[in-house]
Amino acid sequence: MSFDVILDCYTDEPSGLGVPPYLGVHSRYIAGCLTEMGREYYYLTIDDLRYTNGERNFENTYNKRILNTTKNTENSVYLLENATNIYVVMGCFVKYNYVSAEPPSFEEVRNLLKKFSLNQNTVLFYALGGSELTREKIVQIVPQDVFHEIVFGNTYNYFLNKEIKNNFESNYNQLKNIAISSSTIMKQLKRPMMIEIETATGCNRNPGCTFCIEGKRGLPLQFRRKEDIVLEMSSLYNEGAKFFRLGRQPNFYAYDHSNPESIEELFKNIWKICPEIKTLHIDNVGPQDVNTENGQKITEIISRYCTDGNITPFGVESFDEAIREKCNLNGTIEDIHEAVSIINKYGKERGKTGMPKVLPGINIIYGLDGQNENTLKINLENFDKIMKNENMVRRVFVRKLTSPFGEQFDNYSIENIEEFNEWSKQVEEKFSFPMLKRVFPIGIEISELRMEMFENRKFYFKADGYMPS
Ligand code: SF4
Repeated sequence: MSFDVILDCYTDEPSGLGVPPYLGVHSRYIAGCLTEMGREYYYLTIDDLRYTNGERNFENTYNKRILNTTKNTENSVYLLENATNIYVVMGCFVKYNYVSAEPPSFEEVRNLLKKFSLNQNTVLFYALGGSELTREKIVQIVPQDVFHEIVFGNTYNYFLNKEIKNNFESNYNQLKNIAISSSTIMKQLKRPMMIEIETATGCNRNPGCTFCIEGKRGLPLQFRRKEDIVLEMSSLYNEGAKFFRLGRQPNFYAYDHSNPESIEELFKNIWKICPEIKTLHIDNVGPQDVNTENGQKITEIISRYCTDGNITPFGVESFDEAIREKCNLNGTIEDIHEAVSIINKYGKERGKTGMPKVLPGINIIYGLDGQNENTLKINLENFDKIMKNENMVRRVFVRKLTSPFGEQFDNYSIENIEEFNEWSKQVEEKFSFPMLKRVFPIGIEISELRMEMFENRKFYFKADGYMPS
């Protein structure tokens, strides 16, 4: 019987994560499509290929390049050489140093795939970009001798209508059954993964931030139906999934037009159908939608229904007013400080695990239009204000501005890289480390952790949360 292979090389988009321990939507939706079509498929990761190529763990340290192999590792060569189609999924916005995974470059994927005698149809699904312009850019970099086809947009659209090759638009009526059927992938996973769940596409601000990929995609704001989300999660849960993040959307607080009753109903139904979930978190939050009456209600609901250790990551991007105006960033500085306080008001209480229920995260971008020699100082002053307000922040990400196609396509000058490193260092020293001591004071007991990495005889844990009572 003929079969296909899904090769997950991981995705990290601004509004969705598919780098382990997170399982992103793109590979899973392909699994759902193939199941719906009655096709047999096997799920592999780039780690399986690395392992097959001879990479192993180090003494006293796990090798994160092979930590995320699947149950199909031993058969990787046979599967790749005999598949009818190989569907490669990749696209990471930023070259982060992830704790327990290492997304590959195009060149690595090429080198590993070329080792096999591949005559199959090999399709690259590239999660980033936003238009045909992406194709023009990407063909200059993607090795031409491996992939027969490059596809952008939602992976499921490729299977629904092959004529549409660049379709980022959601098709939620058709996605319903595909998402439910995607749970077949669970049997092929080796590690327990945090499953990313999609709730919406499109930004609730128009016009949006000048640099943002969502704006470039020009997608209308669309929400998945609550019952579709719950049926999908129920199907995954019945196959063993216990860790979920409602993470694939630009702004969770915009769900159903920021409707608290609707969000509460969604959470209620999730717990009703999946009562033994271990982790239920959210991702991506616009601070301007927290600092409203409905935003307060939604925050209270999130703190009540989600598991401990939850984060509301704010796309602050910059505290510099000049940049905020120039880049049309979301909300005011006042909104951001208020939003930090609101999340703390409802979320800083520690749950059964010892972790605060929900805390804000803050994302900062280096290199935005309008940045000047005062920008770092302004950012640090505002971080200082958060410290002085006695609030807690779970984590800060400082990243470089990238093109919509991802950092693999960008070149930075040595001066820029040095300045970026200085930004990261100062934010860490002046805010992130002192704040970590506040969130995790010495003596605090935390339970329900799971080990994410073992390095130089040290264990790194992930706080996964706990079912609320
Ligand atoms: S608020 Fe800005 S960064 Fe967030 S999705 Fe909208 S346009 Fe993008």
